[in-house]
Amino acid sequence: MNSNNPLKSLDHWEDDLLERYPEKKKSKKKDDFRNYTDSERQKTVSEFYRLNHKFQTYEFVIKKEKEFLSFNKRKMKVWDAIDFLNTLVDDSDPDLDLDQTQHLLQTSEAIRNDGHEDWFILTGFLHDLGKVLCLFGEPQWAVVGDTFPVGCRFSDSIVYPEFFNDNLDIHNEKYNSKLGIYNENCGLENVKMSWGHDEYLFQILKPHLPLPALYMIRYHSFYSQHRENAYDFLLNDQDHEMFEWVKKFNQYDLYSKAPKPPNTKELKPYYQDLISKFLPEYINF
Ligand code: FE
Ligand code: FE
Repeated sequence: MNSNNPLKSLDHWEDDLLERYPEKKKSKKKDDFRNYTDSERQKTVSEFYRLNHKFQTYEFVIKKEKEFLSFNKRKMKVWDAIDFLNTLVDDSDPDLDLDQTQHLLQTSEAIRNDGHEDWFILTGFLHDLGKVLCLFGEPQWAVVGDTFPVGCRFSDSIVYPEFFNDNLDIHNEKYNSKLGIYNENCGLENVKMSWGHDEYLFQILKPHLPLPALYMIRYHSFYSQHRENAYDFLLNDQDHEMFEWVKKFNQYDLYSKAPKPPNTKELKPYYQDLISKFLPEYINF
């Protein structure tokens, strides 16, 4: 186990999500999960969250914003970024794991099959592109996993809440009250979230996509809110309205995993058109 990157596959925290939030319609089937025993995965997932909860402090988020929100790391066409993301190798079983592009395509194709609008389909296709952070050398715990507000008390509804005992912010009076540095119902726009692929991609795509799409991207890993409503006291009316979209999106993100991988080659022209409808040719990462 690499001490800074305990997950064997970057997607194992998402497999863990399926156990925490099994699809209602279907009963949980063991073979829905990758061939990596539950107990083994559980161990790496909990180690992953231990690091995440310890190091995601308010100050850490500010530091990462400075480092990454000047977008001077790499200039790429969207499809090249997708290919780049696919070079992410982890040591899980390649026969059983879908690559990153396939997860994106399964999500977007499920959205497309339900007849949703094109911006929604594109959002499905792009939503995890922020994981390129891993390729810029960022540790797993600063890229994936549940996200949560920093600058106020950590909710018990966040997965593995006990690990926040190692987070320096719980000893800081500024940050350890219910509201912390925020005002009641100030709106999530004014709330800093733990750093990861969600916030990063939101900041990149902000000028280009409609508001519901931006909410889906920015808050898709904020399970303690979109599943548990633990932070209602920070949300404003717009947030409540937009979280209906986040919830809708989450169904596709979590439950679109199909055994048959999508045909990337066949689908590429359609997605190329969609990309050029909404985004510039080059994107700065
Ligand atoms: Fe994601
Ligand atoms: Fe995803």
